[in-house]
Amino acid sequence: MDKKIGLFWLRDDFRLAKNHGLAEATTNHDEVIVFYLYKKDVYKDQEAQKWWLSKSLLNFEKQLNNLNINLEIVETNSFKIFFDNLIKKKDFAIYWNKVYEPDYLKFDQYLLSALKNKNIKHKRFKGNTLNEIDEIKKSDGTPFKVFTPFWRTAEKYYIEKVPLKNKIIKKCKKQINYLKNCIGAEKILPNKKWFKNFEKIWFPEEKNALKELQNFINERIANYSEGRNFPNIVGTSKLSPFIKFGQLHVETIWDECIKKKPKTVGTSKFLTEIGWREFNHSLINHFPHMLKNNYSKKFDKFPWEKNSKFLNAWKKGLTGYPIVDAGMRELYSTGWMHNRVRMIVGSFLVKHLLIDWKDGEKYFRNCLLDYSPASNVAGWQWVAGSGADAAPYFRIFNPILQGEKFDKEGEYVKKWVPELKDLSKKFIHKPWEFSNQKFKLGKDYPYPIVKHEVARAKALNAFKKI
Ligand SMILES: Cc1cc2nc3c(=O)[nH]c(=O)nc-3n(C[C@H](O)[C@H](O)[C@H](O)COP(=O)(O)OP(=O)(O)OC[C@H]3O[C@@H](n4cnc5c(N)ncnc54)[C@H](O)[C@@H]3O)c2cc1C
Repeated sequence: MDKKIGLFWLRDDFRLAKNHGLAEATTNHDEVIVFYLYKKDVYKDQEAQKWWLSKSLLNFEKQLNNLNINLEIVETNSFKIFFDNLIKKKDFAIYWNKVYEPDYLKFDQYLLSALKNKNIKHKRFKGNTLNEIDEIKKSDGTPFKVFTPFWRTAEKYYIEKVPLKNKIIKKCKKQINYLKNCIGAEKILPNKKWFKNFEKIWFPEEKNALKELQNFINERIANYSEGRNFPNIVGTSKLSPFIKFGQLHVETIWDECIKKKPKTVGTSKFLTEIGWREFNHSLINHFPHMLKNNYSKKFDKFPWEKNSKFLNAWKKGLTGYPIVDAGMRELYSTGWMHNRVRMIVGSFLVKHLLIDWKDGEKYFRNCLLDYSPASNVAGWQWVAGSGADAAPYFRIFNPILQGEKFDKEGEYVKKWVPELKDLSKKFIHKPWEFSNQKFKLGKDYPYPIVKHEVARAKALNAFKKI
């Protein structure tokens, strides 16, 4: 047993299962500290996630305390300054799991070499993906740009590879304190209490993630291919925030899914969606420019329009298109939005309103509990047409037809846009065709901010310019 203190740098891995770095720390050391570095300036644009993060820290702390491990949180705006100071102490060994984002991986290189220079014992482990980013490449060694061949290769590679042994986390001898100037997890909560509704819906803890996974596998996975399209029902897993914060490792998802016999079309489809997450992580690491700019350079010349009135109407769910407004209100109220509706509201912003996808991406970043740079940026660029393997720009979602097809009875709209609750199926997705004594368009619900046909023609015209 190593006499030094074992440190585990907690990032997106709020779990005990398949947490290789933490397991290694408890195997090698009697005394272990888990620490989290809170970057306030990063989270200033991730308001909803401040809530999830704060709750995750509180819940994980309890799990760790049962193992005689303390969780210490330090606020810092620079990993480098923190570690340059820490390294001076030299009385520790350190472990962590990878986060597959270019900034994290770049910092890892700095840290690995600083630790090596000072002779400090350290080890970095695989993070929360099925495969390492560099493991999946085309036969000519270049990265995939198209999803289907990527996933065919990635799935096969994963099935054939020998998984890392799952080490058990051991109980430590005694609980100690180590870092100075620590803060409490409550300090991370947003000041305004707008997130109160989240507390009724979400329980950010590993055991709930595992329970939700089992519920999904037992009750919904068989019908997932079909059920995932309809926002009025719970047809998907709703595991995304748990996956983002690592309450659930995707390998656990894989293992539990394939245990279920017989394997259904739903299971394959579901694992393919996990594959999209893998693809997005591969993309942002091989093409990091896409995190801030268009993946496809020809979109740099796209004539986006600045229109704060339209942007605000979209954010508030007051565009006059019921399915769009329902989605935006679901997002603000619950911190989550159904995938189909994400595509509809995204398409509406970039194509009907001609507003740059970056504005949408920023708003989602602030409101989504599952926000992840890889999937948010790739999702937005997929919608806009500027991404890799994206929907072509000229494919413009018609919000009326999308509503009529995927929310036939208007149940989803009525849930989130209650001012339309008395409209019949015939009018629920085009309330401008309805009028009576009780319902006045322009007073009870807005007129559409743009006309679909006019906006569509304008978008196609703008696209011709690039
Ligand atoms: C504009 C836009 C922005 C998005 N932003 C994010 C984001 O910030 N974070 C995020 O996790 N997902 C994002 N997505 C992808 C997708 O909408 C969500 O992952 C999904 O809705 C989460 O719900 P679920 O857990 O019930 O998904 P399920 O259908 O149950 O899928 C299971 C898991 O697979 C992954 N997944 C599913 N669909 C996708 C997809 N299209 N792309 C990548 N991974 C997927 C997620 O980890 C998800 O939890 C975005 C999609 C769009 C169109």
